[in-house]
Amino acid sequence: MIPKYKRILLKLSGESLMGDRNFGLDPKMLAQYADDIKAIVELGVQVSVVIGGGNIYRGMNESETGIERAQGDYMGMLATVINGMALQASLEKSGVKTRLMSAIKMEQIAEPYIRRRAIRHLEKDRVVIFAAGTGNPYFTTDTAGALRAVEIQADVILKGTRVDGIYTADPEKDKTATRYDALSFSEAISKELKVMDMTAFTLCQENKLPIIVFDMNKPRNLLDVVNGKPVGTIVQ
Ligand code: UDP
Repeated sequence: MIPKYKRILLKLSGESLMGDRNFGLDPKMLAQYADDIKAIVELGVQVSVVIGGGNIYRGMNESETGIERAQGDYMGMLATVINGMALQASLEKSGVKTRLMSAIKMEQIAEPYIRRRAIRHLEKDRVVIFAAGTGNPYFTTDTAGALRAVEIQADVILKGTRVDGIYTADPEKDKTATRYDALSFSEAISKELKVMDMTAFTLCQENKLPIIVFDMNKPRNLLDVVNGKPVGTIVQ
């Protein structure tokens, strides 16, 4: 089967790496994600990944932590580096070639982010993990995902979550909520559906980058998405 998408950016939340735990990393989740990513690399898909840090640290809670927002945000960015290193380790263990690129210089553990170099890695079928978000406080890893996806000219951004798409209401709270198969950017805005934060969403919209929201915790869903099967919700 020829995959529908040749180059993708996969956005994984830090929280999804917790699995059933309350904090940190679940090796089962890392192994499952590595298997799923390996399956699409073997199809010939060029894969880049942006990973969140919410399982370790989130910067926004200044009132709870007493740590000023920008400082906390940098801590959050470092959390994404830890997650990126963990995902890198599990991918390499599965025999997938990877490169970790960081938006904050950390020469001993990651390459600095250089756009053209990232593209070169992708052309050589290495999975590129973008860590440390955008490198700037007051942004999110969704925005980092949208930015990197646009920069490397990805065909699509795949937002792997715990729910299987975008619903009319929060399906964890409202049992009558129904799932959309497809939406336009303007529909998502007018219906006030939270797909990503506005900065990330606008970047995708302005650059006509489709977003697919899907359940990453269902094994092989990622494979179905890149093969163009109707999984999740597409915003385009
Ligand atoms: N962060 C940031 N700039 C970025 C990306 C992330 O300041 O470009 C910080 C921010 O504090 C955020 C934390 O890193 O709360 C972790 O990222 P995020 O909350 O987006 O992770 P996720 O929700 O996907 O686990």
